[in-house]
Amino acid sequence: MFFPSSPFEKRTFNHQTFYLKRDDLLDKDFSGNKARKFHYFLNHDFPHIQRVVSSGSNQSNAMYSLSVLARLKGWEFIYVCDHIPRFLKENPIGNYKEALTNGMNIIESQTREEEVLRWLDAKSLHVNEGGRQKEAEEGVKILANELLADIQTHAISNPYLFLPSGTGTTALFLQKYLPFPVFTCNTVGDSAYLQKQWKMVVPDLTHLPTILETKHKYHYGKLYIELYVLWQRLRNEMGVEFDLLYDPVGWSALLEHLPLLDGTPIYLHQGGILGNASMLQRYVRKANML
Ligand SMILES: *Cc1c(COP(=O)(O)O)cnc(C)c1O
Repeated sequence: MFFPSSPFEKRTFNHQTFYLKRDDLLDKDFSGNKARKFHYFLNHDFPHIQRVVSSGSNQSNAMYSLSVLARLKGWEFIYVCDHIPRFLKENPIGNYKEALTNGMNIIESQTREEEVLRWLDAKSLHVNEGGRQKEAEEGVKILANELLADIQTHAISNPYLFLPSGTGTTALFLQKYLPFPVFTCNTVGDSAYLQKQWKMVVPDLTHLPTILETKHKYHYGKLYIELYVLWQRLRNEMGVEFDLLYDPVGWSALLEHLPLLDGTPIYLHQGGILGNASMLQRYVRKANML
């Protein structure tokens, strides 16, 4: 299963030109960042594998994408998370709901690592939280080659790429294959965390992305009214819905540094829209409490 190249578009925001690489439109079921990172698993045969095992948060995009992968491959999908709120169990929404529809077997455990180990055998494939692994390189390399073709088609001079990072795996492999600067920001932890993640994926890579720090520090998954307002402005001015977890942090980092960056900005839209339902629900509940 190979995806056709994702769309590449010219947009204006805040009186500035941005090119958008729309990986959110890659495929209806298997879209965005995780489609690139799980490309390897989707496109190779694993004749001995009957089960995929992973762990992470109860609304993770990786969890949903793995549920699609497992369904397509006919594998059992075991997903371990440390807590599922009762409210979510009674009112399934977003990635959680869709992953369950795809047949995910979700297990709540206070000792996540041990629980994962319990399910691993010769017929199981283990996928790291968030898809932080070497196998991501194959799909991300395809994305890099698409970008090079897009840049040529649109005759863009002096391009640079920006994308927000979680584990940083995508930014790392993009910088490996792109001959121009890749900028990113951390949404989880700080710069030191991101650098540590990079070392874990590829210990000897020297050509690393550049991290843009924001003045204001945002905590992963927390709600910030100013980020919600920025998300709305992006949607209204560009007609594009971004993800509410990574993108508003990404755009605020990019906008903060934009005057100092030389060249034509390209923003990578990495999908994750399915997760917006639960984020919006949380924003509504927060607003009602104010
Ligand atoms: C997973 C994800 C990211 C982070 O990707 P990393 O390779 O872990 O940095 C960013 N945006 C979206 C929408 C994602 O689903």
